Amino acid sequence: MDASHDVLVIGAGCAGMRAAIEAFDAGADVALLSKIHPTRSHSGAAEGGINAALGNASEDNPELHAYDTVKGSDYLGDQDAIEILCTEAPDDVYELENWGAVFSRTEDGRIAQRPFGAAGAPRTAYAADITGHVLIQVLYEQIVRRNIPVYEEYFAWKLVEDGGRCVGVLAWDLLHGGLKAISAKTTILATGGAGRLYVGTTNAYACTGDGMTMALRLGVALKDMEMMQFHPTTLAPTGVLITEGSRGEGAFLLNKDGERFLKRYAPNAMELASRDVISRAEQTEIDEGRGIDGNVMLDLRHLGAAKILERLHGTRELSMVFAGVDPIYDPIPVRPGAHYHMGGIDTDVLGRTSLEGLYAAGEVACISVHGANRLGGNALMETITFGRRAGADASDVAFRTPDTRVPESAVRDSEAELQRLLDRRDGERPWRIRDELAETMHQNFGVFRREDQMEEQGRIIEALRERYERVVVEDKGDVFNNDLTQALELGFLLELADCMVVAGLARKESRGAHARPYDYPDRDDENFLRHTVVTWNGDGPELDWKPVTITKWQPAVRTY
Ligand SMILES: Cc1cc2nc3c(=O)[nH]c(=O)nc-3n(C[C@H](O)[C@H](O)[C@H](O)COP(=O)(O)OP(=O)(O)OC[C@H]3O[C@@H](n4cnc5c(N)ncnc54)[C@H](O)[C@@H]3O)c2cc1C
Repeated sequence: MDASHDVLVIGAGCAGMRAAIEAFDAGADVALLSKIHPTRSHSGAAEGGINAALGNASEDNPELHAYDTVKGSDYLGDQDAIEILCTEAPDDVYELENWGAVFSRTEDGRIAQRPFGAAGAPRTAYAADITGHVLIQVLYEQIVRRNIPVYEEYFAWKLVEDGGRCVGVLAWDLLHGGLKAISAKTTILATGGAGRLYVGTTNAYACTGDGMTMALRLGVALKDMEMMQFHPTTLAPTGVLITEGSRGEGAFLLNKDGERFLKRYAPNAMELASRDVISRAEQTEIDEGRGIDGNVMLDLRHLGAAKILERLHGTRELSMVFAGVDPIYDPIPVRPGAHYHMGGIDTDVLGRTSLEGLYAAGEVACISVHGANRLGGNALMETITFGRRAGADASDVAFRTPDTRVPESAVRDSEAELQRLLDRRDGERPWRIRDELAETMHQNFGVFRREDQMEEQGRIIEALRERYERVVVEDKGDVFNNDLTQALELGFLLELADCMVVAGLARKESRGAHARPYDYPDRDDENFLRHTVVTWNGDGPELDWKPVTITKWQPAVRTY
């Protein structure tokens, strides 16, 4: 056994760091573990902002925030969790400010708030268009200030269960090689999303859904896995995100005829309709021949150079560097890209999973506050509020738990398994399978879903999983063996894809991100106002259902 803690937090993005701070402040011996340096975590890429009903731009309150979130979720969000998020968000934002988060300001010095899609009031607090970068730096400062140990560049591969509870993790030391056992009384997964399941995505290379599959392999359920959000403005061809903040500031979406086509899809909300609605509208324009080279255009020109330079400086830079377009003078080519996984590890409002001692928070979790469609600005808020809550409960439970140890046998078995993989001399290279998976997920499980395509994707994944059994890692070394870790990540991705397809086929309706216009074009509350829940039965995914928690908002028809 290599190390032991009260609380181990796996993942050092906004959710993981916020959880670790809370556990530390409660008096726990807590450590963070991350496959990349904390400030390189993907939270740092968040641009547009974080939602809290501060009421600084217009009349607002947590109840309104909750209502918008419920409605935006297409009524699949759990309303108890949503109410907690929206009620606790303002204090959490002020705490970030007190720690040094430099939010953009109003004229009279309060935190400024911009309009975001499907929000009834301008409620997105922001730091220009680098909000995630600012938050991650501030949280890391708090980690350093507390001297919280970080297992940096450790790749968590297997959670370990002993006696019916999670007792820690086995992680590969990326710098030196070798498997390390880290025991913990409670473990919090904060490993982020799985956008790399798709070829066109806003997510970084590290977003491979590791935590979801690690939990799945221990019998923990994944919820609403079919709900992958496509963001409507990702830069062609790279998939780099163009923030919703640009539409919040007034940008238009145009088709090849220069028409603001959203007037035909969302005549009231227009460019501020929710992401699922705009992504479908764009895809329809592109599919029906009104796009330009597979894109539509995001036009900022009328905002004027001064506003673009002040509020959307980073957006301009991204457009110039990655698409060769200066938005002061020309519209930006954009299209829908995989962005955010509303699905994830099934947890309660304290972050607890069904396995004792195991928690999840942030994008890896499904609490569920986003339901079938996440509102922009709510994900960062979720990382902070539910990261904090998971840290508090995990430390509390750890204080009441006797010492736990990763059993020696678990270490030996896993070392032997890794060695078998490294000893293999012939076989297929992982990247081929990874590319095929990402391309076919995009084709067959994208913005629009068809029964035959989803079935086909199920068969493709089965074949890819068979090929994965013979995958070969060419690098046999110990130091920064990306070949090995990418092979392990591919294993995670394949199982997640399988879960998504099974859940997608079962949901025979259109709701939020799950759009089936060809066979089930309508939302069906009678049969499907419930969560899909997938567990792994040894060989493949097994589907079940779980009710949605409704506190006060009964499902109503969404208007745009
Ligand atoms: C481009 C972009 C812009 C966005 N903009 C906004 C926005 O403006 N507002 C908003 O609310 N939301 C936004 N989102 C969504 C939001 O940023 C994310 O959902 C959120 O930051 C995820 O945070 P997290 O802490 O859960 O995960 P991450 O920040 O992704 O952190 C994951 C951590 O887990 C670690 N990890 C993963 N696997 C392993 C492993 N096997 N072993 C060890 N460590 C591991 C990583 O190293 C990392 O430290 C945006 C998302 C993207 C992609």
